[in-house]
Amino acid sequence: MKESYFLGIDIGSTTSKCILLNSQREIIGSSLVSAGTGTTGPQKAYEDILEKANLTAGDISFTVATGYGRIMFTEANDEMSELSCHAKGVHHIFPDVHTIIDIGGQDAKVISINDAGKVINFVMNDKCAAGTGRFLDVMATILQININDLEIHAREAVRPAKISSTCTVFAESEVISQLSSGENVNNIVAGICESVAGRVASLAKRVGIKEEICMSGGVAKNGGVRDAMSKSLGAKLQYSPKAQYMGALGAALFAYDKLNI
Ligand code: ADP
Repeated sequence: MKESYFLGIDIGSTTSKCILLNSQREIIGSSLVSAGTGTTGPQKAYEDILEKANLTAGDISFTVATGYGRIMFTEANDEMSELSCHAKGVHHIFPDVHTIIDIGGQDAKVISINDAGKVINFVMNDKCAAGTGRFLDVMATILQININDLEIHAREAVRPAKISSTCTVFAESEVISQLSSGENVNNIVAGICESVAGRVASLAKRVGIKEEICMSGGVAKNGGVRDAMSKSLGAKLQYSPKAQYMGALGAALFAYDKLNI
């Protein structure tokens, strides 16, 4: 019998991610392009995953798009909200999770889900760069540190620096002044991670936290933010190396359901 394939694409503000499933709902491919909605990123991520799997668009049984740019993606058969897709992706990997903390490139969301993985409540910050990946991107540029290396520096810190400004622009000046007064870079990085985690933890407390808790989105890859979040919430966090793909995974699972339920 011919194998069936199901594709999920998550078109975010800064990155485009795809996940490919086979008919057993196993992940058989992924792709990520660091360019999001309104760019060629979504098409590149789509072509990349097909090429790696040696498939063509005609081999895919169903494609679901999610994320900020989902409406614009014409290759998809259907679209679903980011909240539902993150919930579905996380529930598939961690069935006991009830709170999802998703920090992306330009927003942060805290999503409460029930035992079946359905969204029951959420809060979102999409108004302010502080508490999002954008804050970390700006700070990494000032510090001339690759975004992937922030966690190494944060984990070497002896005493995290206090970043008191809640605005990204003011926090940028604060970091520059700490650097010029000789503060240790590792301490500054840990302070930056604590600042992001602290802001999103306050958001999480507003929605109400029910364990288990999981971090998703690109910022979850930063162990410095995960450590600080765990400290702020006083709870352990679930984390998958596929954290940035949770929305795409949920979309691919919805694609599977379209033809199998
Ligand atoms: P969106 O869906 O909004 O485009 P993502 O969930 O893909 O966003 O997350 C993008 C953010 O993830 C970037 O702003 C960046 O700060 C962060 N990020 C990506 N990779 C890493 C990494 N290896 N370590 C730390 N942060 C990362």
